[in-house]
Amino acid sequence: MDNIAKDIERVLLSEEEIAARVAEISADITRDYGGKNPLLISVLRGSFIFMADLVRSLPIECTLDFMAVSSYGKKSATTGAVKITKDLDLDIEGRHVIIVEDILDSGLTLSFMMELMSAKRPASIRLCTLLDKPARRQKPIQADYVGFEVPDEFVVGYGLDYADKYRNLPYIGVLKPCIYCKE
Ligand code: 5GP
Ligand code: MG
Ligand code: MG
Repeated sequence: MDNIAKDIERVLLSEEEIAARVAEISADITRDYGGKNPLLISVLRGSFIFMADLVRSLPIECTLDFMAVSSYGKKSATTGAVKITKDLDLDIEGRHVIIVEDILDSGLTLSFMMELMSAKRPASIRLCTLLDKPARRQKPIQADYVGFEVPDEFVVGYGLDYADKYRNLPYIGVLKPCIYCKE
């Protein structure tokens, strides 16, 4: 049997830790956005599990949309180039937007997206990221809602991939460096 867990060096965040933190973030968003029908935009594909768990614990009225950008290809380090591969379906003008991301790393992806979205004149934009890796920041971007700060290591699971694998791991783990050392 092939078991993807064999490629994980160690578990960084367990399913239970993630669930508890997602509930806290959802309580914060409920407090800040009740009655405002926020538009949550999930940045595919990395944030799909976080988005699914987050919105299921939100008791308030909200709207969802999805956008896909690619910046990484197969590599574990950013190329700096960000490409929109799926644009929004809904109009964001006048809406209270919350961008939902898996991980804020160099900040290149999010600073690009923020510029793009600001041009469409939403009432407000905030960032919600499950993970924050501040050690590698190249753009001065801060998220408004952060699940966990993580060390400068390549992590996978709970939606995050390496070469399109490992998204289905229910926890977040550090990938064994030998998996990408041949890049
Ligand atoms: P940034 O533009 O902030 O450097 O990178 C954002 C994107 O890079 C994330 O949304 C994610 O897809 C990818 N990324 C950055 N660090 C990691 C990591 O440690 N693990 C995985 N799987 N993806 C990462
Ligand atoms: Mg992402
Ligand atoms: Mg990826």
